[in-house]
Amino acid sequence: MAKTNAIEVKNLVKTYGNVYALKNVDLNIADGEYFVLLGPSGGGKTTLLRSIGGFIRPDSGSVNIKGQNVDDLPPDRRPTSMVFQGFALFPHMNVSQNIGYGLKLKSIDKNVIENKVNKMMDLVGLKGLSNRMPHELSGGQQQRVQLARALILENDVLLLDEPLSALDAQLRKDMCIELKRLQKTVGISFVHVTHNQEEAMSVADRIAIIADGEMVEQGTPKEIYSNPKNKFTAEFIGEKNIFEGRIKDFNKTKVVVDIDNDNIEIANNNYKVEKNQKVSLSIKSESIQIKKMSKTNSKVSNNQIVGKISEITFLGQFVRYLVVLNNNQEIQVRSYEEIVNLKVHDTVSLSWKLEDFLLHQN
Ligand code: ADP
Repeated sequence: MAKTNAIEVKNLVKTYGNVYALKNVDLNIADGEYFVLLGPSGGGKTTLLRSIGGFIRPDSGSVNIKGQNVDDLPPDRRPTSMVFQGFALFPHMNVSQNIGYGLKLKSIDKNVIENKVNKMMDLVGLKGLSNRMPHELSGGQQQRVQLARALILENDVLLLDEPLSALDAQLRKDMCIELKRLQKTVGISFVHVTHNQEEAMSVADRIAIIADGEMVEQGTPKEIYSNPKNKFTAEFIGEKNIFEGRIKDFNKTKVVVDIDNDNIEIANNNYKVEKNQKVSLSIKSESIQIKKMSKTNSKVSNNQIVGKISEITFLGQFVRYLVVLNNNQEIQVRSYEEIVNLKVHDTVSLSWKLEDFLLHQN
């Protein structure tokens, strides 16, 4: 059976003066899905998250949660809990009191609260820390208290606004694994805002790219990483090898794109293109083969391009070569083995498999 939607956002618009924070955004999030809103700062992610939680009132559009319209409900009457940026714990309350606070406000029996707090502390990995005060906790532990405090309310949806931004890089990676595990255990929908693509990829079932108040595209982490439809997405997920050009020729299997008078041939992945149309191409740095140009292999074909090495950097697991093309564009090549005969200023040929280039409409 198809999953029902936990959240349905329709035509959401929010303006601040003449700034459009959200421009007609539509979004569906399934029950039990870990959904990430990813995009550059100022793109509208937080505005969208807060509109779902009821902290922001949109100008128009609607939000349904579990089939119920919540447009007129304040945050505390929506079936959502929110984990805010930073830690925001009550400094004068210990861990148990912080976690149980929301239930205490609902006048729930003390013993019931104690029971639930203990279960929640086990779940988020805070066992034995009930009497600690917030200042006696590490950043990761404080974040766990925040999570426990939100989850104990047993709402249908957990909203997380840049939840890991205050943690250092290693802790952020560890917490990603824990967040994902936690979400699968509790089984409710998580909606997580971040500008960090690695964080998004490691937790999400699905990702929406949000920029400039608009939904750019949505997909699984693999779809977004390996097959971004949009040039913006390709650039945002860290693909620096973007070429601008025009369609020179195409048939059912191949497309030839003219890039500053160099022809690049790619596989035709059912692209809808016309001759002379402006398009962009992207290719991952690890999909390019780099080879020293010698007099004997100086013939250049349509899936080869020539350039000069401007920089070689050893980065632990791989070596990065920066190559400058005839049109001065810089290309990154990532090789998992050091190619011993390559030096800075060498002329090299770059080649690829036809299907490794992706075509994006501009
Ligand atoms: P993100 O979460 O992607 O960083 P935001 O949703 O915070 O983006 O912001 C989207 C746009 O709305 C930005 O241009 C931001 O400056 C603007 N904005 C957000 N909140 C306010 C506010 N309270 N007053 C004025 N402009 C705001």
